[in-house]
Amino acid sequence: MNDTKKYGFTTTILHSDRQKSIEHGSLHKPIHTSVTFGYRDARELAAVFQGKQSGYRYGRQGNPTVSALEEKITRMEDGLSSICFATGMAAIGALFQALLRQGDHVVSSAFLFGNTNSLWQTVSGQGIDVSFVDATDVQHVETALTAKTRIVFVETIANPRTQIADLRRIGELCRERGILYIVDNTMTSPYLFQPKTVFAGLVMNALTKSIAGHGNALGGSLTDTGLYDWTMFPNIFDTYKRNVPTQWGLAQIRAKGLRDFGGSLAPEAAHHIAVGAETIALRMERECANAVAVARMLEADSRVAAVHYPGLSSHPQHRIATELFRSYGSLFSFELKDGIDCFDYMNRLKLAVPASNLGDTRTLVIPVAHTIFYEMGPERRASMGIAESLIRVSVGIEDPIDLLEDFRQALDA
Ligand SMILES: *Cc1c(COP(=O)(O)O)cnc(C)c1O
Repeated sequence: MNDTKKYGFTTTILHSDRQKSIEHGSLHKPIHTSVTFGYRDARELAAVFQGKQSGYRYGRQGNPTVSALEEKITRMEDGLSSICFATGMAAIGALFQALLRQGDHVVSSAFLFGNTNSLWQTVSGQGIDVSFVDATDVQHVETALTAKTRIVFVETIANPRTQIADLRRIGELCRERGILYIVDNTMTSPYLFQPKTVFAGLVMNALTKSIAGHGNALGGSLTDTGLYDWTMFPNIFDTYKRNVPTQWGLAQIRAKGLRDFGGSLAPEAAHHIAVGAETIALRMERECANAVAVARMLEADSRVAAVHYPGLSSHPQHRIATELFRSYGSLFSFELKDGIDCFDYMNRLKLAVPASNLGDTRTLVIPVAHTIFYEMGPERRASMGIAESLIRVSVGIEDPIDLLEDFRQALDA
């Protein structure tokens, strides 16, 4: 497919590597384990280091297997270019390392992945001011903005309570004010949603989850959508202003965030992620259909106190989800009625595995308040709407009948 025709999502991923010649006609981009790269002569080495000639310098800054994955992610997000990292957290950490300075202000959704929340706490102790707001309404974001606000950061669907940010209106606000809008797209994945459509400047993905999809590799990525005007961003060093402004942001992040911080993705992991990514559409279709079925079954049961899933019409942001996303995601959470112990319930499940990952092919369950949100304490949990009995479910690709039966029999027991 060496032409410029626009193909569908899966066709594009499957044939992405072949856009460039691959060694020996291999259909998978090979795993290049070499940390260093030799050149014909010393002048060529210098030219590569000075960016006058394309090529690889040292494994921490770039690797051919990782580059092939970066191009794939860029195509998935319809972006300009991407950088991969060792984990999703390394990608988020690199943002702050590379883009923020003392006295800067960040507006972040209050409904956040637990470790991102923890990272923000660290950052606020280092001279950067962070405001946590209820991002389901753009008004709260607008009220929090100051002259020093550099970044607005939100997740698409919050884990575990599934609140959905007011994605489009926040995007419009940021565009109007020239503020960098960063969207963590992990919970939707580029198959369900492309944050570029709501004017995000940077898109973050934890590749570990739905993109790799099998719980066998860690990885993260940042994609520049090309929509943000980096000349509006005051923290770009002159060194990274040599190329066209659309490249300033990622150039600085690749140097200050990836190169200097060192959270580089290993080529073996990049290979696992690339293979996993080939089937993301197939997996997500099945996972989302399974999630709708199980969430509906639980919602209709009198022993269940609440089910939080954007696919239910009872969900406060059901309309936004319907409008923006291809489907409602593979994650939901629920609360049992008083008197039913959440640990006992999970112990009665025969298929769903008690484990902390999500976006896996297998269905995983976790008691949120006692595990991933334990460290933050009861007050902050309550402010995020997390009940002490909340069970999070990451729905896998099991046969729907088996899954429904498993969640039902655990209620009956
Ligand atoms: C898992 C996750 C991350 C972090 O990704 P890791 O690869 O585990 O570091 C960030 N954001 C969201 C929404 C996640 O679910």
